[in-house]
Formats: sequence, structure tokens, C-alpha cells
Amino acid sequence: MATNPIHEAFLTGQPEGDPFLMTPDGGTLTYGGLRARVAQMAGALQAQGMGPGDRVLCQIEKSPQALILYLATAIAGGVFIPLNTAYTPVELAYFLDDAAPVLLVVDDSTAGARPVADARGVAVVTASELMALDSAPLSDPLARKSDDLAAILYTSGTTGRSKGAMLTHENLISNAKTLCDAWRFERSDVLLHALPVFHTHGLFVATNIALLSGSSMIFHQRFDLDQIARDLPRATAIMGVPTFYSRMLGDDRFDRAALAHMRLIVSGSAPLLAETHAAFETRTGHAILERYGMTETNMITTNPYDGPRRAGTVGHPLPGVSVRLVDPDDQGIGGIEVKGPNVTPGYWQNAEKTAESFTEDGWFITGDLGQFDDDGYLSIVGRAKDLVISGGFNIYPKEVETEIDALPGVVESAVYGAPDPDLGEAVAAAVVLEPGARTDAAQIISALSGRLARFKIPRSIRIMPELPRNAMGKVQKAELRKEAAEQS
Ligand code: ATP
Ligand code: MG
Repeated sequence: MATNPIHEAFLTGQPEGDPFLMTPDGGTLTYGGLRARVAQMAGALQAQGMGPGDRVLCQIEKSPQALILYLATAIAGGVFIPLNTAYTPVELAYFLDDAAPVLLVVDDSTAGARPVADARGVAVVTASELMALDSAPLSDPLARKSDDLAAILYTSGTTGRSKGAMLTHENLISNAKTLCDAWRFERSDVLLHALPVFHTHGLFVATNIALLSGSSMIFHQRFDLDQIARDLPRATAIMGVPTFYSRMLGDDRFDRAALAHMRLIVSGSAPLLAETHAAFETRTGHAILERYGMTETNMITTNPYDGPRRAGTVGHPLPGVSVRLVDPDDQGIGGIEVKGPNVTPGYWQNAEKTAESFTEDGWFITGDLGQFDDDGYLSIVGRAKDLVISGGFNIYPKEVETEIDALPGVVESAVYGAPDPDLGEAVAAAVVLEPGARTDAAQIISALSGRLARFKIPRSIRIMPELPRNAMGKVQKAELRKEAAEQS
């Protein structure tokens, strides 16, 4: 019999009365309630004219409805496309034109999107309006093959314009199964969810694992230390970006006792400083488990659940996922390529970009540079696009950042290439200092001189109150480069 893979994997099997979502207002959505609402929403989407393969673009605040909309779209045979709520109407125009959806779902905060959609003849509706339609709930999920699309997720736009990564039912389900096993998720788990749900981390890694294992989630609107401190005692696991953990370290409430009952603490989406890892372990007794993935591939590697979690590494390839390094240099640093059931079939309506991103033998080119240690732990050295080429020498920003970060008074740094008429690019650094630190750019440069070859030492250092970051905690080096170019 034809089935809908996402329906089978994520919406059957969990006991009706088990909690799925717990919201700060004291509300609980059970699995039975979730199924009913998803069926209702799926019926409403069909009533709005959504058919198989149609795209539903959605720009709404984090809410249970956002998750309901994702599942409803998938079981009604559509393709779910969530957008960052920070995108302005002008930015939205690009996504509307690119995705060509049948429907745009907005809420009060994104109502400015309406005229942009109207101008393109795209129907606009709010999630509440959809839920209020008294259309018949969808009784039978639409049959889908495992390689049919369930979602298109736009990448974070760190290195350029966001690309729409197509994700199949199989891409999502296979990764959720692998992660559930690797991280031992059970029905009894309670996952503290404070990530956005327009990005792979909060939408797929966290949510799909919860659905598949039948565990529940405490659902926070955003990362807020007071709310985290309040709800942590009820949680067994948390997933976050590195900023979560550095902020927790700055707050005395997060000590050994407060985290004693936790089973798992996961970090990803951006590099976790080895220092943060060590300080967190000293403070709480927990070794943060760092993993690596991307929008296009879902999760690729993870540190072990059992066995040592190595700070500064992203662990080993997940079972069923293959990773290789191409063109390694003399330090063993090469381009990371991936193959497996987790990998996108390509970019939405962008055959050229898709062709560029796969090798002839079918490996996906991540654009990240990595290095394996003797025990097979992968370290992400940075992005190929961030490699600085100065006077013909290759400089890996991570190596220079590690040296700068180790200096007294330095919190963190970002190394990038600033345009330079003589060298092509000159090494430049943005540095964040500790409050009251007694150091400056000149001292940092002189401290590095005994530690790094001359060509790697920054020619210019900008002291900044904080590094430019996006919602996922990713440092925006393109912004730093742009500012440097404007100043030169
Ligand atoms: P764009 O592709 O639009 O430039 P992006 O690559 O930042 O944006 P995402 O798909 O959200 O968009 O992020 C994936 C990238 O995040 C990876 O390619 C990698 O560079 C980085 N990343 C994810 N996890 C880690 C990690 N644990 N350590 C270091 N980098 C990581
Ligand atoms: Mg990317």
C-alpha cells in the first residue's frame, strides 16, 4: 500500500496521551492532540488549493503552529519552506520568486509580507486563519515516495545568497533515525527546545528526533536564561548553538547541581570553542557533545555518546554517512565531501549550483575544510571560502584565531582576508576583549610573533565589543570583509 513516509515515521505509534509540546504558558499538546491538529491543518491546506508537490512558504514566529504546519504540509503531499522571521519584505521577494509557492503563511509580526505576495499573485493566510477554517480534516495522508520532497530549507546565507536545499522524506527520516540511535533518545526524554524553527537545527534535528522517539519538548519562544534556569530541572536534554553555552557560563545559576539530572547537552551550527567546552565541563561535569551538519546534508558527524567527546572536534561520521577529505595538504587538511541518505538531491531550481556542488561520483562538496586525527575525530578547520590567501600563502583562519584566543584578555576573535593591493589579501582580525583587559592591537600582534609564522600574523586588528553573528550564532565574516573593503 502506498504510504506517506513522514506520516508513518513521525505521526504513528506514540501513545495518544503522551505529551509532545509543553509551552511556558503551562499548555501541553499531546501526541493525540498533535495528530488531530495536523490532520485539521492538512485539510485546510488542501482547501486552500495546495496539491502534491506544491510549496507552502511560511514566515511565522516560533510556535506550536509552525511545527503543525510543517507536518501538515508533508502529510498532504506538499513541500514546507520556513523562512527566518528576520527577513524583511524586500528579502522575502527573492524567496517568493525563487520558491513559487501556492501559499504564503504569515502572522502579525510578518504581516508586512502581504503586499509583496499580493504583487506576485500568491495567496496569503495566517496560521490561525488556517486552523479556523472548518474544512474536513485530512483522513488519509497523501501517498509519497521516499525520494519525494518534504521541504526546502534555505541555507543561512553566511557565504552568499541563501540557496534552497531540497530535502526528501528519506533525507529527514534517515537522519532522525540515525541521531535517535546515536544519542539514545527514548520516550522518557524531555528536550529543552530554545532554537528557532526555521533552521535545520531546531526544525529537523530537535523536532524530528522528539517525534521519532516519542519524547516531549519544552518549547521556548527564544533562548532566555531565566526561562532556561526555570525549566532545566524538568529536562533531560538540550540542543543549542555555542552561544547558549557561553551565556550559561556567564551565569552562576548553571552549576553542577542545576544540571545534575541532565542526560545530554548538544552543540552545533557553529564552532564551539574548546575553551567553552572545557569550562562547561569544569563547571557542570558535562562534556558538551558537539556535532556537525548543514542544511543540505542534515547531520554528518557527531562526537560519541559513550566514549570521549573531544573538544574542538565534531567527532566521527554518523552510521550510514560517508565522509572523505579531498586534496589534503601537508597537514592533512582537505575539503569535506559527504555521501549518504541524508544528502539533498540538490538546490531548488538551480541545476548549475547543484552541478557545482556534487563530484562526478556523487559526493556532496560541503565547502568546509577539515582534518581527521589519528582516532578518526574530524575537526572543522573553517570554510574553503574563508581561507585567506596572502602573498600566495594559504592561511587557515582557525589556526590564527586559536592563537589569538589563547592570549590573556581575549574572549574571542575572527580572522579574515582584507583586500590588499600588494598581497591580494592581508590577514585581518576582529578581536573581542574581556572587560577591563590590559591589552591592545599592538600587544596582540607582538604576542603572536613568537608563535606564528610572519605571513600568518594579522596586519590589522579591530577591537570590537562583539563579533557580528546571525541568529544561529554564526560569525558573519562576509560582513567583516565588506567593511574592510569599504575602509581601504
Ligand atoms: P550558506 O550556505 O548560505 O553560506 P551556512 O553554510 O552558514 O550558509 P547552514 O547550512 O546553516 O548555512 O550552516 C552549515 C555550516 O555551518 C557548515 O557548512 C559549517 O561551516 C557550519 N557548522 C555547522 N556545525 C558546525 C560545527 N559543529 N563546527 C563548525 N562549523 C559548523
Ligand atoms: Mg553552507
